[in-house]
Amino acid sequence: MNAALPLEEVHRRVEHACRIARRDPAEVSLVAVSKTRGEDAILPLLDAGQRVFGENRVQEAQAKWPSLRERYPDVALHLVGQLQSNKAEEAVRLFDCIHSLDRPSLVSALAKAFDKVGRQVPCFVQVDVGEEPQKGGCAVKQLPELLAQAREADIPVIGLMCVPPAGIEPAPFFAFLDKLARDNGLEGRSMGMSGDYETAIMLGATQVRVGSALFGERP
Ligand SMILES: *Cc1c(COP(=O)(O)O)cnc(C)c1O
Repeated sequence: MNAALPLEEVHRRVEHACRIARRDPAEVSLVAVSKTRGEDAILPLLDAGQRVFGENRVQEAQAKWPSLRERYPDVALHLVGQLQSNKAEEAVRLFDCIHSLDRPSLVSALAKAFDKVGRQVPCFVQVDVGEEPQKGGCAVKQLPELLAQAREADIPVIGLMCVPPAGIEPAPFFAFLDKLARDNGLEGRSMGMSGDYETAIMLGATQVRVGSALFGERP
């Protein structure tokens, strides 16, 4: 199969959703979520020009990406999964954006890691919009306090991220995240996955995290 075809299809759908929403497609960044995928699946996307990739585990990304990055130095790697505080330093060395800042202890760990590594990584604060704490994400009620703590610690927070509950209409959650971002003066909205990225774009997504629509179903 030609791996460029699913990528073209996703681009077409992104553009179509942008047209309906009267948005500029340049405002929407496609994060190709390559978790569980090997080089054989990732290389064709790199060859087709995709440069932003998402991983959900620090160790898996460490094993896969250094060699790919030698060949494609302009790749941007995003961490889209939960981050343990004791992996903050490794994450700061490896990733160019973190989508899962969700608690005060991680604010401290990241601030420390930024200092130590000498590099700041832009972050999204993940919000638990569906009241499913097992997925990670800061409770809606705690968001203002967490944002204040991040500001205090000089963490560059560029937006909010959510993973709505599975199996129900995601649009109300996307609309809610968009409102929370606006209320807090944040530009970025990381929302939308393979099944719902067009809806997310119509409701303001600036980063869509798409895996299986690009790579096929995960084993
Ligand atoms: C796996 C994952 C995605 C991509 O999911 P698909 O349904 O395969 O597009 C997006 N966001 C997060 C946080 C993920 O863990």
